[in-house]
Formats: sequence, C-alpha cells, structure tokens
Amino acid sequence: MLYRPFGKTDKNISVISFGGMRFSEPQQLEKSSDLLLYAHSKGINYFDTAPVYCGDRSEDILGHALRQLPRESFYVSTKSSRAKGDDLRKGIERSLQRLGVEKIDFFYIWHLMDQADWEKRKQDGAVEAALQAKEEGLIGHVLCSSHMEGEGLAGVLNEEIFEGVLLGYNAINFPYRSAAVEQAGKQGIGVVTMNPLGGGLIPQNPERFNFLTTDTANDVVSAALQFNLSHPDITTALVGFSNIREIDQAVSAAENFIPYSQEQQQKLQVNIETAFDGLCTGCGYCLPCPVDIPIPKYLDSYNQLILTNGDRQTVLNRYRFHWGITPQQAKECISCGDCEERCTQHLPIIQRLKELPL
Ligand code: SF4
Ligand code: SF4
Repeated sequence: MLYRPFGKTDKNISVISFGGMRFSEPQQLEKSSDLLLYAHSKGINYFDTAPVYCGDRSEDILGHALRQLPRESFYVSTKSSRAKGDDLRKGIERSLQRLGVEKIDFFYIWHLMDQADWEKRKQDGAVEAALQAKEEGLIGHVLCSSHMEGEGLAGVLNEEIFEGVLLGYNAINFPYRSAAVEQAGKQGIGVVTMNPLGGGLIPQNPERFNFLTTDTANDVVSAALQFNLSHPDITTALVGFSNIREIDQAVSAAENFIPYSQEQQQKLQVNIETAFDGLCTGCGYCLPCPVDIPIPKYLDSYNQLILTNGDRQTVLNRYRFHWGITPQQAKECISCGDCEERCTQHLPIIQRLKELPL
C-alpha cells in the first residue's frame, strides 16, 4: 500500500481509503465489520462513514470493527450536514459513542450544496461548533465535503477554515471540480476524492473509458483509480466497498500504481475529447442562465441517462441525492438559446432539459 501525507496534518493516509456507504448487508454486523478488518489487513488505514449511510448502520459497523484494532493503526472520519451548532455538536457526541473512539480524526462539514448553504453553515453555528469540538480534542481536523462546482468550492477553501476537502472527482466529472483540487493543492491541504469510479458508470462503460488504461492499469477500475492518484494534489481515493474482491482490486491498483507519463497525459487529453463526445463535461461555460437553471447539474443528470441506457431512477437519484435539485426546475427553461451558444461541447441543452425525466 502507498501512503501520502494528509496536507499539513501529521497523518499519513493510504492512497485507497475505505468508504462505509456500500455494505451489501448492513444489518449483518459481524460480516460487514469483517470487510473493514480485511481492508485494514491490506494496509488501508483511513475509514470513512457518516450518519444515515446504509440505513444508519454504517457508524455502528465501523465502531464494531475499529474497537478490535489498535487505535494508532487507523484514522476514522465522519460527518454532519446540520447547520445549527447545537445539532452538529449532538451529532459529534453520538458519532463518538457509536464509533467507540475518544476523538474523530477527520470531521466533515458535510455536503455543502452551494454558496448560500455555506453561508448558512457559518451563520447558524455549524462551523463554530466543529472548531470548538476540535479545541476540546473531540475532533482532530475539520474538513468540508461538497458537490459544488470547482470555482465555488475553491472560494470556500480560500477562506482557510478547513484542513482538507472531500469532493467527487473522476474521469467523468473532473473538469467540473479541477479548480477546487488546484486550490487545495495551492493551500497544501488534504484532498479525498469520492466516487472515483463515477458511481459505477466507469466500470459499466469500459469501452468508453478504455482510454484510461495503461500497461500497469489494464482494466478500467484500476485505471480510474490511477487517474485519481496521478493527480499530485489528491491524497486518497475513497472507494465504497461491498466485498473482498473490490478491496483486492483497489489495493492491487495502488500497489501497481505508476503515475501517467507525459506521453500518456497527452494521449489522455486527446482521448478525453472522444470519450466526452455527446456528454456534458461540467465545465460551466453555459452559465449564467437568465432563469437561474443550474444547467451543468441537469446536464450531468442527463449524462447518467446516456451512460445507463435510459435508467430513469438513476437520474432521479442523481437530482435528489447528488445535486439536491428538483426535476421541475429544468422545465422552466425559456429557450433563449444563450447556453447553447456558449456550450463547449455544442450540446442540444434545450432539448435535453425537455427530455429529462420528472
Ligand atoms: S436556453 Fe434555457 S437553460 Fe439555456 S440559458 Fe436559456 S433559459 Fe437557461
Ligand atoms: S452544458 Fe456544455 S457548457 Fe454547460 S457544463 Fe455541460 S459541456 Fe459545459
């Protein structure tokens, strides 16, 4: 296993980290926690969870497993999306109890949706409460997680409150997030990437993403992890594991990891254009919209429609759980055409907004 320093903290983190959001049978405490112990035996030392994951079982599963391990051999992270300071504090106390630790190593102000949401977290006391808990030694480091676009999230990081960030970054959405990763790199803070496999879309579309593969990463899963780990500012790729095979595959990708050469980087650039043919890259050049439609979020949802061959439920989940948007707003488009003129991929945005499922 490879390890990287987590920003300016004194922690060294495995480049593959364990996401506790995909346990296949979360009601089976022993079986689920065995998976975590297996990952630990393979050198993974960073374990991430959150309240509500896996029907609110994930923190209990992690707690059950971590109690069996020497405390100095792992780092644990959890989160809170509560805006009110008192609520966040209660969440920390509950998480400490469930995880069976005296300190949460990394704690996230969770799921920042946009600038207004970020302002609310500050105004309502969430940030202050997290920093207070750090003062008291209940938390090691305060970080944020977000689905905001890169520039907006870069602005949040630039306030220099956080010691690290968790964001979605993969071969499908990286243009949308690159600015935040670069900002984190500039500040020298840790970067945890979630969804390195594009929520399963990369392994499900091996032909489209085959261009990521190299001699040492010759399947798309290894290659998608290599894509993340090749970025010098990314500390660790967080993978939600359901079984031992997935852990073995990710660990093997880390052990055989060789960063892309300059020649491979150039090849990637050329091939990315082909891979994104017909897909929204999330670049955001279509904005602003006169009726404030968050076009990249809807067009990303449309990407899911293409990549899953029309699976409506995937798109509905994407609106709700990933972006926090309603399907209806897409239908408020007044067909002014401004976005289509600016779209770098020349996408039929108006038509796609009409076709998105309600
Ligand atoms: S065409 Fe629709 S989505 Fe595009 S800018 Fe105009 S109103 Fe917004
Ligand atoms: S719709 Fe076009 S311009 Fe807008 S984010 Fe997607 S690719 Fe970029």
